Amino acid sequence: MNSSLWNVPGSAPFDHPREACGVVGIAAPGTHSANLTAVGLFALQHRGQESAGVAASDGGKISVHTGMGLVSEAFRDGDTDRITGDLAIGHTRYSTTGASDYCNAQPLLVSGVNGPLAVAHNGNIINSVQLREQLRARWDCHFATSTDSEVVSHLLANAPGAAWPERLFYGMRTMQGAYSLTLLTPDAVIAARDPLGIRPLCLGKLNDGWAVASETCALDHMQAEFVRELEPGEVVVINRDGIHSEIYRGAARRRRALCVFEWIYFARPDSVMDGRLMHNTREEMGAQLAREHPADADLVIGIPDSSTSAAVGFARESGIPFANGLVRNRYVGRTFIEPEQQRRDRGVRQKFNPMPAVLRGQRLVVVDDSIVRGTTTPHVVELLRRAGAAEIHLRVCAPPIKHPCYLGVDMATRQELIAANKTIAEIRELTGADSLGYLSVRGLLDLVHGQQGGFCDACFTGNYPVPVQLELTKMALERA
Ligand code: SF4
Repeated sequence: MNSSLWNVPGSAPFDHPREACGVVGIAAPGTHSANLTAVGLFALQHRGQESAGVAASDGGKISVHTGMGLVSEAFRDGDTDRITGDLAIGHTRYSTTGASDYCNAQPLLVSGVNGPLAVAHNGNIINSVQLREQLRARWDCHFATSTDSEVVSHLLANAPGAAWPERLFYGMRTMQGAYSLTLLTPDAVIAARDPLGIRPLCLGKLNDGWAVASETCALDHMQAEFVRELEPGEVVVINRDGIHSEIYRGAARRRRALCVFEWIYFARPDSVMDGRLMHNTREEMGAQLAREHPADADLVIGIPDSSTSAAVGFARESGIPFANGLVRNRYVGRTFIEPEQQRRDRGVRQKFNPMPAVLRGQRLVVVDDSIVRGTTTPHVVELLRRAGAAEIHLRVCAPPIKHPCYLGVDMATRQELIAANKTIAEIRELTGADSLGYLSVRGLLDLVHGQQGGFCDACFTGNYPVPVQLELTKMALERA
């Protein structure tokens, strides 16, 4: 795989949806599972770069290590060596509920009537504010963080039921929203996916054990053989007796609603979902974009790295040559994202370097995978013009984002979403491009529904797969 096609750690552009975490689980008798879990977390770094952590059990005691920053920053030499045991879970975080604080880093370790429980959570619980109050009143739970994941943790640590599948099903009846979970008890690793399967989770086989991860790319790096994706509402318990799976009966009555943004942008291009390599799917999306919005141009370039696959597909379909015209500085500090609007152009300049020798005098198709606020696109267009581009035809490989996400993706409020407030013509003018075309909702859904079907497309259509009444912000529990 060409490394330029990869989302690299810290490479998330300024104006893109932010993913809500990656999770890993390992049950491998006789091994030091924390180290292998860290390997999986490195592979899932693109899903969250704010903090990382591992919890492991030696069959009796659960130990946890968490730290802020990239996985390489959170785990210094020997940190994972000290977390012993052949059962482990791990987490890499981008905050969608609660601030980016050390206390909010996961896995969280709580204790309840079901014993100690470590939890790694990817997703967003819509009714977490109400649930937190109920857990306080009913079970006298004490909360040390401002995350919905701690609500999940206390709920499951105290959930009624004789065994873990039953307790998870209680959770599924109680929690609204998105959750792919890896859980650790003193003697088991448990994986669970919400009844709509909104966030991904897959199962792999190790030589002597099992692995669970948000994406198949993590299984590849851990040298686990992909077995299958977990079903919506599925609970998998792995312990010394082997592996046991049950599916929540309520899940069968609902349709799956996998986040379609996993296919557009979040998942690494070398990950496989529904049997499809994400790189190939994005090429097809780029080809569809070329059919819907052809352009008279000399070169196709992608905004690196996340748009490269789609740009290759656009080029192939249109017959216009693909070129690398913009180089991403992969090592610009993750934390160096200047928030003020007036400084964004400087940020863009530090992140991207155009190559005038490639671009000068050329009519460009510039493929981007999404526009959220529209705050950085004008600076990218300006950068390309200054490098000598004669024309810029902006093509966006996602439909206009008109609705906020409540299901585990940090996008923006409705007021901030440019497509919710401006026409395509107004957005084109604001970006400074000569033309602008978005992939249609129909074109996108025809491509993805050709697979197993059942995707959430709410940020484009407003059709949320679960009831959404609140303008819930990521700081809701901080205020509560
Ligand atoms: S609203 Fe959009 S970003 Fe959120 S889960 Fe649905 S498709 Fe994904």
